[in-house]
Amino acid sequence: ATPVAFMGGMSSAAKLNVIIKDGGALEVLARVRSAAFDKTGTLTQGKADVVNIVPAARSARETLQLAAAAEQFSVHVFAEPIIAAARVQKRELPQVAHADEVATNGVHAVFSDGTQVRVGKPAFIEEVTGHITRPALAAGETAVYVAVGNELAGVIVLSDPLRPQAADTVARLRAAGVEEIAMVTGDVAPTAESIAHEAGITTVHAETTPQTKVELVQAMRPRPVLMVGDGINDAPVLAAANVGIAMAGRGATVASESASAVITADDISRVADVMYVSRRTVTIAL
Ligand code: ADP
Ligand code: MG
Repeated sequence: ATPVAFMGGMSSAAKLNVIIKDGGALEVLARVRSAAFDKTGTLTQGKADVVNIVPAARSARETLQLAAAAEQFSVHVFAEPIIAAARVQKRELPQVAHADEVATNGVHAVFSDGTQVRVGKPAFIEEVTGHITRPALAAGETAVYVAVGNELAGVIVLSDPLRPQAADTVARLRAAGVEEIAMVTGDVAPTAESIAHEAGITTVHAETTPQTKVELVQAMRPRPVLMVGDGINDAPVLAAANVGIAMAGRGATVASESASAVITADDISRVADVMYVSRRTVTIAL
């Protein structure tokens, strides 16, 4: 392998808006035979829309206000659509005194009047409410739960569809000899399975944590394994995979730092494009 060929490969990739940090990653990518994809923000657009709010202890309007106030302190891809939906109501959001993104579960905020609000995954909300009611979801929809104190305030339903190029990208990777393709997502199984089905992925691992994403990818065969992700919850698995490709976007800074390559275009098909670049580069280099 000549450094000159890798320089050429890196520059071809750069023209596709794929920044490769180290030419060695191209050599590994050319040999990849299995791949794992994150769901939210990676296979899906991550530009979700609030499509419904199911009220519980609070009205739909209040649920959205509480959630949006807390989401100002989150880098999750659902923060922006929730804040945007609240903005339409043209009311001032409650003042937040302190807020934390809690692992990958959601965000916890304490308002100036002492009110505690949690926004995020069902299990994260159940910790304080004891129970939740799960709304029926259509294909491509996912639910974000909102707790105020120890009560379920309401549930925000978002539509986060598959990226238009996702199924084609998966098909192109298979055509290039990537035998095993899996989804590893922090989301719940029904939403994960409906998106995986549309993308043409049959192996689905739902309700994963950053650590179980790492374990699942380390167990994948045959090696080397490619991981494609976008969020802070993907940083460890992007570093643990043989090749990590990060989709740049909100919250993707940490993911990008851990990855071997970063896609700066909002287009997942660049994953397949750069795979072809890597094959060509290694052929030239050998
Ligand atoms: P993936 O691993 O596929 O990227 P995530 O774990 O990022 O998925 O998101 C899955 C779920 O996490 C969402 O459906 C939502 O319920 C929850 N979630 C986590 N953090 C937040 C947040 N800050 N705001 C809204 N939802 C969140
Ligand atoms: Mg994600």
